[in-house]
Amino acid sequence: MTGPAAAIGAAVGESQLRRCLVTRACTGASLPAGELTPGLEAADRWTDEAVSAAGIPVRQADFVTVGGGIGSFVTVDYLRIAGMPKSSIRVLTNLDHPWQTYEYLTRVSQIPRAERIRSDSASRPDNIWGFPSYAVQEAVRRRTLSPLWQVAVEPVFADYYTPRLGVVLDGVEREARRVGYREMVVPGEVRMVRRRMGGGYFTVLTPKPGRSSVKRIAVRSRDVHLAVGYPGLKFLPDLQRFRLEYGDFFHVVNAYEDHEHVYATLRHRPGTVLVRGGGIVASRILDRLMRDRTRHGLQTRIVHLFRTYVDGPHGRHPWSRRRGGNGFAYQGFNYPKSVWGGQLKARMRRLDGEQRAQAYAEMGGTTTAFRRGWQRQLAEGRRGGWYHTVTGTVDEVCRRGREPMLVRIRAADGPVEVPVDFVIDCTGLEADVTEHRVLGDLLRHGGAGRNPLGRLEVERTFELRGTASGDGRLYVSGAAALGGYFPGVDTFLGLQIAAQEIADDLAHRGICKRIGTTRSLVQWLKWMADREI
Ligand SMILES: Cc1cc2nc3c(=O)[nH]c(=O)nc-3n(C[C@H](O)[C@H](O)[C@H](O)COP(=O)(O)OP(=O)(O)OC[C@H]3O[C@@H](n4cnc5c(N)ncnc54)[C@H](O)[C@@H]3O)c2cc1C
Repeated sequence: MTGPAAAIGAAVGESQLRRCLVTRACTGASLPAGELTPGLEAADRWTDEAVSAAGIPVRQADFVTVGGGIGSFVTVDYLRIAGMPKSSIRVLTNLDHPWQTYEYLTRVSQIPRAERIRSDSASRPDNIWGFPSYAVQEAVRRRTLSPLWQVAVEPVFADYYTPRLGVVLDGVEREARRVGYREMVVPGEVRMVRRRMGGGYFTVLTPKPGRSSVKRIAVRSRDVHLAVGYPGLKFLPDLQRFRLEYGDFFHVVNAYEDHEHVYATLRHRPGTVLVRGGGIVASRILDRLMRDRTRHGLQTRIVHLFRTYVDGPHGRHPWSRRRGGNGFAYQGFNYPKSVWGGQLKARMRRLDGEQRAQAYAEMGGTTTAFRRGWQRQLAEGRRGGWYHTVTGTVDEVCRRGREPMLVRIRAADGPVEVPVDFVIDCTGLEADVTEHRVLGDLLRHGGAGRNPLGRLEVERTFELRGTASGDGRLYVSGAAALGGYFPGVDTFLGLQIAAQEIADDLAHRGICKRIGTTRSLVQWLKWMADREI
């Protein structure tokens, strides 16, 4: 027991606390039915009686997945292919469809459906076999060998082949229909997951307004899986200060917010934009600004702020050096490719504590893809004198009447003041797990702990360490599990590898069938024929 529950437990004694929870007499008798009583909120483990005494309706499922994004989708896909019936699975989510958040984030960060994403041809969230790959699919559809040729010669003689966003999303939609995903969805906002006395978990959900007459429900299940994505946007303190002080959310934006007004304004009058960050999102934003400049004959000037300027190949070891130049560190994907299935995957599985943190530090960092088109654009900007780079950190952003904003930068060679019209911050999404209500609650009440990167510590099976409840297990994949034995966990392929480990663990526990050769072949044929499971 941890946190407030531990304190209460010590004061009143475990058995007395349990009686309080069962009768509601101690703490919550005056609360309306369906409310979480203080007793429930404080207890690490709940009894069936305490939940029903609180007037919270209970639903039953074998396997609950919380989030309903790509991570939940691929996990459900695996379990359905492993033979788990729809009636055993419930997806608790505030989304209308699994690709909703991903499509929103890609769209605002300048990857519309017709653009190509970052991951490769075989990273198919809609196809656990990765075959036929996106390149094969495109070659067949367009009746051309060029995607196959690109895959054959990448990355030396051509950029990595990557699929178009629209193709990826259409595929997920098709597979969601095939596995009956919609029938498993329970719409609403999950409040918490608590261990159940006697085994399993209660997952508390506030139903979507208008979808239910009750205030909240508790889903009792043997197993729970969490893939809740990113807790929120990350705003660096200087930008946040500016936005709050001046109430100005127009001129200083995060790349993960809808900021189409910036491009619209620049089409009507020339302006200077400060782009902050050196990752793939910064590359996308630069691409949009530069393409608009060419397409509409604009006079946009760009100041690009790097915190660390990379001017050439870098890395500690001769065998793990990374390409770099003009400020950027280049890498096709967000980790070296062997993280998903090569020697790095095997090595990371053996590392714990400080050694694992060190390995993450060596292979991590901000990178972007080397794309020939982007290189040409930047070279043109440098030649034309309308694209400049600065290295340093922002000290302050201030406004002077109707003048453009002034950004004070602590640069490597002294302070610099840059007048700009817009700031687009491309430095990332918030990642502190305690910002997420359900994850924070698991740290306080669920027995969960943190990994060397400060996120949730999972086992090699993606079970959240310390949270087992009788015969029940709680699994986590996606951003919350980054820092574990598998670094690629917050990518399509990584989420599938996690789902495979979870399905294998469930099969090992006798809960679903193992996806062996025959099942795999039969299911693949069904996938090819678009036959419902
Ligand atoms: C701009 C961008 C581009 C990317 N490009 C690629 C790429 O090319 N290739 C690749 O492999 N990966 C890519 N990724 C990473 C990929 O999008 C993620 O790995 C994946 O979407 C994570 O899935 P998830 O289910 O963990 O999170 P999500 O898909 O975000 O789904 C989680 C959802 O859970 C819901 N949720 C959260 N809390 C609750 C709650 N309490 N109750 C109910 N619902 C809740 C939220 O709606 C949340 O969106 C990209 C990511 C971004 C941001």
